[in-house]
Parts: sequence; C-alpha cells; structure tokens
Amino acid sequence: MTTTDVVVIGGGQAGLAAGYHLRRQNLAYVILDAQSTAGGAWQHTWDSLHLFSPAGLSSLPGRLMPAQPGQEYPDAAHVVDYLSDYEQRYSLPVHRPATVRAVHRDGTRLRVETDAGHWSARAVISATGTWWRPFLPAVPGQEKFTGRQLHTTGYRRPSAHGGSQLGPARLRVPVLAHPPGLRAAGARRPAAAQRRARRGHPDQEPHREAEGRAPDGQVRWRSRRQLHQEAAGDRQMLFVCATRFDKYVEASFGSYVTLRHHQVGERTGRPDSLRSVGVMLTPDHSGSRPRDTTPVRVLGPSHLTSEQVTEFEELWPQSGSA
Ligand SMILES: Cc1cc2nc3c(=O)[nH]c(=O)nc-3n(C[C@H](O)[C@H](O)[C@H](O)COP(=O)(O)OP(=O)(O)OC[C@H]3O[C@@H](n4cnc5c(N)ncnc54)[C@H](O)[C@@H]3O)c2cc1C
Repeated sequence: MTTTDVVVIGGGQAGLAAGYHLRRQNLAYVILDAQSTAGGAWQHTWDSLHLFSPAGLSSLPGRLMPAQPGQEYPDAAHVVDYLSDYEQRYSLPVHRPATVRAVHRDGTRLRVETDAGHWSARAVISATGTWWRPFLPAVPGQEKFTGRQLHTTGYRRPSAHGGSQLGPARLRVPVLAHPPGLRAAGARRPAAAQRRARRGHPDQEPHREAEGRAPDGQVRWRSRRQLHQEAAGDRQMLFVCATRFDKYVEASFGSYVTLRHHQVGERTGRPDSLRSVGVMLTPDHSGSRPRDTTPVRVLGPSHLTSEQVTEFEELWPQSGSA
C-alpha cells in the first residue's frame, strides 16, 4: 500500500488539470488512469471529431493549447498530443494502466484499490469522465426501427457501416457532436417520432459559417443555437464566434438574437415564456485576452414589425437561413 495526500482517479483533461493545481500546492499525489496512453476519451472518439472551441479557448491551466495549422477547431489527435505534452511538461505523476476498483473509508483516510496496487490517501478526486458509461436514452418508436442503433462511443467512421444509410437520433447530444462523417455519408433527417421526442430536450442547430458584409472588410461568423423547451418556459441560447469586433458586428449580433427570438416565439406560439440569451465571442479589443464576450438578452414577446424583421434579416447575413 502506497501512502499519499491525494489520489486523482482518471488521467483525462480533468484529472490533469487537478494534478496541475495539486502540484502547485506541494501536495503528494498520484493520478491513476485506466488507459495505457495519454489523452483520456479523446483517443477513442470518431475520426472526424474536432473541438467545438478554437485552440485558444480549450487550454488547461498553465499552458495554452497551440493552434493546429490550418484548423481553427483542432481535431482529436491534436488534443491527444496536447494532453500528452501537458502531463510531461509538468511531470504529472500518472500511473497507467491502473483501474480503480473500489474506494473504502479506512479510519481517517481512504483506501483506493486498483488492479495495479492499493493507495492510502487523505482525499480522492474523481475525474473519470462520461465516455466510459454511455447513457442510452429510450427513444419513442425505437422498438419499430429495424436498423442498427449505436451510441456515438461505438462509432468511428462511416465506411465501417458499408454504405448503410446513417443518421443521428438528435437527442441530448449537441448536433456539433454528431459525427460529421454521417452527413458526408448522406444522413437523412431523423424519423418524425424522434423529432417529436426532442420536446423537453435541447433542440439544437449545427454551426453555420458565413461571410458578413462589413464597411471595411469581411467578417467570418460561426454560430450555434440551442432551444430548451421546458414546462416552465422556453430558453434559447445563441453562440456566435466572429473574427472582428466593432459597432457593425455588435449591431448585427443584436439583430440576430432579436430576430431569432422573434421567430422562435412565433413558431412555438409561446412568446411570453421565451427567454433568449446570446453570447458572442470576438477578439479582445485590449489584446489582454484571446477573446472578448458580448452578451445580449431578450425576454418575452419581441413585437417586431415586418419591416424590422426585413431590416434585421439584412443586418445579419445568415438570419434568413439560420
Ligand atoms: C463528442 C464530444 C465533443 C467534445 N468537445 C469538447 C470541446 O470542443 N471542448 C471541450 O472543452 N470539451 C469538449 N468535450 C467535453 C470534454 O472535454 C471531454 O469529454 C473530455 O474528454 C472530458 O475530460 P475528462 O477528463 O472529464 O474525461 P475523460 O477524457 O473521459 O478522461 C477520464 C479518464 O478517466 C479514466 N477512468 C475512468 N474510470 C476509471 C477508473 N475506474 N480507474 C482509473 N481510471 C479511470 C478513463 O480511462 C479516462 O482516461 C467533448 C465531449 C464529447 C463527448
């Protein structure tokens, strides 16, 4: 039995970040990871997965994630490289493979039992992630579907499915997390029963990219939208990354949020209970941080006239189709 102050279970990004801070506290600790190599869940995702956020916004404490050449949104292999480098850079004491089987109270301490030995610790941090015990939701109509149903944890690439028609079930998993390869393989819209099942779950749209017209040059936008329909009221979240910040971009974003608020209120027939919150990420004007955030909130009925709708649609280049 090895004695230490803290045992961290899991050597993915959460476990490494915990290790970084424990190191700064000069505590004795160990990170126990069931994987044979660094990278946590990122080693096992589908081939085409990219981060949702640019590299600069995906960093662990102490070390910026370097940009991946030619990719604003790094791929999974880049994340694995970054995590491997991170644990070496800080000499994090990761033991692998070591699978924790049980944690027991042992007097004033905790006994951590693994398949690679036992540890006695004052505290245990659980950083085991969600990948390893996937949640398989019940989908109305599921029993009538005769094709194969698999969780994203079991999916790697479309070619493994030999020309079958593939499509995401669109439940709790953000659309951005749907393996893009499915679309490349000609994914169909989900069945009507599955679409209806989205009520009560986030209704999400994939990111959109667009070139905006700006007085002195082009702006690139990337947007994502989520609608949570709940008994207490509807909640819409809009996220936009833009490559510039100025009055034009700010006004366009305000128009976008207002317009989508109006359109969703009309569509759902519940404008009174709708809350829309938009967050825009743009380069920081002072240069002190990589990004700045601009929030916009719209509550309740929007009362937009048709002229205002037209005006806002023109201001926001993607509003007509977003
Ligand atoms: C499709 C998808 C896209 C995502 N995109 C982003 C993104 O763009 N940006 C972002 O910041 N986050 C993103 N995330 C979320 C998050 O960053 C990842 O899920 C990340 O892998 C979570 O890190 P983690 O350390 O919590 O868990 P994991 O990476 O799963 O690491 C947990 C580690 O614990 C180990 N472990 C588990 N049980 C035991 C045990 N009993 N004993 C020992 N070890 C154990 C596992 O083997 C693993 O190595 C995404 C998640 C998914 C699923």
